[in-house]
Amino acid sequence: MAKRSTPKKQQANSQSSRRYKDFRNKARKRLLATTALSKCDKCGEARLSHTACGSCGYYKGRVVIDKSKAMDKITKVKA
Ligand SMILES: [Zn+2]
Repeated sequence: MAKRSTPKKQQANSQSSRRYKDFRNKARKRLLATTALSKCDKCGEARLSHTACGSCGYYKGRVVIDKSKAMDKITKVKA
Protein backbone atom coordinates (compact mmCIF):
# COMPACT_ATOMS: atom_id res chain seq x y z
CA MET A 1 0.00 0.00 0.00
CA ALA A 2 1.25 3.45 -0.91
CA LYS A 3 2.20 5.70 1.95
CA ARG A 4 0.78 9.16 1.66
CA SER A 5 -0.21 11.84 4.09
CA THR A 6 -3.79 12.54 4.99
CA PRO A 7 -5.12 15.82 3.58
CA LYS A 8 -5.46 18.49 6.29
CA LYS A 9 -8.56 20.11 4.83
CA GLN A 10 -11.19 19.14 2.36
CA GLN A 11 -10.59 20.75 -1.00
CA ALA A 12 -13.32 23.03 -2.35
CA ASN A 13 -15.09 21.93 -5.53
CA SER A 14 -14.17 25.19 -7.25
CA GLN A 15 -10.49 24.54 -6.57
CA SER A 16 -10.50 21.14 -8.25
CA SER A 17 -12.67 22.34 -11.12
CA ARG A 18 -10.30 25.27 -11.71
CA ARG A 19 -7.36 22.86 -11.88
CA TYR A 20 -9.22 20.66 -14.35
CA LYS A 21 -10.24 23.64 -16.52
CA ASP A 22 -6.65 24.82 -16.68
CA PHE A 23 -5.53 21.36 -17.80
CA ARG A 24 -8.34 21.18 -20.37
CA ASN A 25 -7.55 24.61 -21.85
CA LYS A 26 -3.86 23.75 -22.13
CA ALA A 27 -4.68 20.45 -23.87
CA ARG A 28 -7.06 22.24 -26.26
CA LYS A 29 -4.45 24.84 -27.13
CA ARG A 30 -1.85 22.14 -27.79
CA LEU A 31 -4.27 20.25 -30.04
CA LEU A 32 -5.14 23.36 -32.03
CA ALA A 33 -1.44 24.09 -32.54
CA THR A 34 -0.70 20.60 -33.90
CA THR A 35 -3.65 20.27 -36.31
CA ALA A 36 -3.41 22.59 -39.29
CA LEU A 37 -6.94 23.29 -40.48
CA SER A 38 -7.49 25.13 -43.75
CA LYS A 39 -10.62 26.37 -45.48
CA CYS A 40 -12.13 24.61 -48.47
CA ASP A 41 -11.96 26.64 -51.70
CA LYS A 42 -15.36 25.37 -52.86
CA CYS A 43 -17.59 25.58 -49.81
CA GLY A 44 -15.47 27.31 -47.18
CA GLU A 45 -15.77 24.51 -44.67
CA ALA A 46 -12.79 23.78 -42.41
CA ARG A 47 -10.82 20.76 -43.58
CA LEU A 48 -7.49 19.09 -42.91
CA SER A 49 -4.73 20.17 -45.26
CA HIS A 50 -3.75 17.70 -48.04
CA THR A 51 -7.09 15.91 -47.73
CA ALA A 52 -10.37 16.09 -49.62
CA CYS A 53 -13.16 18.19 -48.17
CA GLY A 54 -15.59 16.15 -46.10
CA SER A 55 -18.68 18.19 -46.93
CA CYS A 56 -18.37 18.69 -50.72
CA GLY A 57 -15.73 16.11 -51.73
CA TYR A 58 -13.49 18.52 -53.63
CA TYR A 59 -9.73 18.45 -53.64
CA LYS A 60 -7.52 20.75 -55.76
CA GLY A 61 -10.48 21.94 -57.83
CA ARG A 62 -11.89 18.56 -58.80
CA VAL A 63 -14.33 16.05 -57.38
CA VAL A 64 -12.59 13.25 -55.52
CA ILE A 65 -15.48 11.94 -53.45
CA ASP A 66 -18.81 11.82 -55.25
CA LYS A 67 -21.29 13.10 -52.70
CA SER A 68 -24.31 12.65 -55.01
CA LYS A 69 -23.95 8.88 -54.78
CA ALA A 70 -23.81 9.00 -51.01
CA MET A 71 -26.47 7.10 -49.17
CA ASP A 72 -29.23 9.32 -47.81
CA LYS A 73 -30.74 7.01 -45.26
CA ILE A 74 -30.43 3.42 -44.20
CA THR A 75 -33.82 1.96 -45.05
CA LYS A 76 -33.24 -1.74 -44.56
CA VAL A 77 -31.44 -3.35 -41.66
CA LYS A 78 -30.13 -6.86 -42.07
CA ALA A 79 -30.47 -8.68 -38.82
ZN1 LIG B 1 -15.73 21.77 -49.42
